[in-house]
Amino acid sequence: MNPSSAPFSSPSGKLSGTLYVVATPIGNLADMVPRAVETLQSVALIAAEDTRHSARLLSHFSISTPCVPYHDHSDERRTDDLLQRLTGGESLALISDAGTPLVSDPGYRLVRAARQSGIPVVPIPGACALTAALSASGLASDRFSFEGFPPAKTNARRNWLDALAGDRRTLIFYEAPHRVLACLQDMEAVFGPEREAVLARELTKTFETIQGGPLAELVEFVAGDSNQQRGEIVLLVAGAPARADEGLDAEAERVMGILLEDLPVKQAAALAARITGVKKNALYQWAIDQK
Ligand code: SAM
Repeated sequence: MNPSSAPFSSPSGKLSGTLYVVATPIGNLADMVPRAVETLQSVALIAAEDTRHSARLLSHFSISTPCVPYHDHSDERRTDDLLQRLTGGESLALISDAGTPLVSDPGYRLVRAARQSGIPVVPIPGACALTAALSASGLASDRFSFEGFPPAKTNARRNWLDALAGDRRTLIFYEAPHRVLACLQDMEAVFGPEREAVLARELTKTFETIQGGPLAELVEFVAGDSNQQRGEIVLLVAGAPARADEGLDAEAERVMGILLEDLPVKQAAALAARITGVKKNALYQWAIDQK
């Protein structure tokens, strides 16, 4: 379906265009979704992180829409110009060099200002390195935290990682190739050599590599092969393991509480394990500790 270029009546009653936030491939041009191409072809203007970089993508898909540079450090006048065009009824698209705009990429200021002005903002989803890496990592994906780029200097990085050491969620980082080894070494020092991690490199490209293992092994792997210190990289680290003294989560406690009213501990633990997914032994031990 073609994106609508029909003006939208904002709460103030004025007619405005739509701001489309368009994801572009992270390496493999075949990942460009048809709706992204249609949108970029039909809008009046494309705001791009780097117009020269995007020129290659646009010409590959025969998109001749005019392009202007936009990043979050663009002066306020640039944001205002774009907002004026939107409120004047033109639809615009926002793209970054690769992947989803606003994910470690420009766009936040413009999207926020557009929404505050009552201008409709429509996402055109597509490639994103963090979700691509997570989806193939084999690490827990029910809860995760995207942490962006770690600090560049070791001291700052170690302190920063330290604050994440107890986080139970899968942690996801973007990292520059020339810092990946030092970063993994700091992760090993802070999270411990056994903590499971995954290096996802050059996703969707010729040299795509997805290597998992304990941090100690991953450090050796990257240190022993300089090719692993090239290209674009996502690092993922398993969440901190539950501490033995931590007890159960509230839901497991609630389920156990109900079952223990009518069942012996062993049966209650077995049933609660099936309901909550928590390990039977942990549930059994919790019930014993309550006595
Ligand atoms: N907005 C982009 C997205 O949606 O993923 C991310 C932009 S950020 C400036 C660039 C970083 O994303 C790279 O340094 C790398 O950490 C990660 N990245 C981008 N493309 C990648 C790829 N093909 N494979 C692995 N990581 C990638």
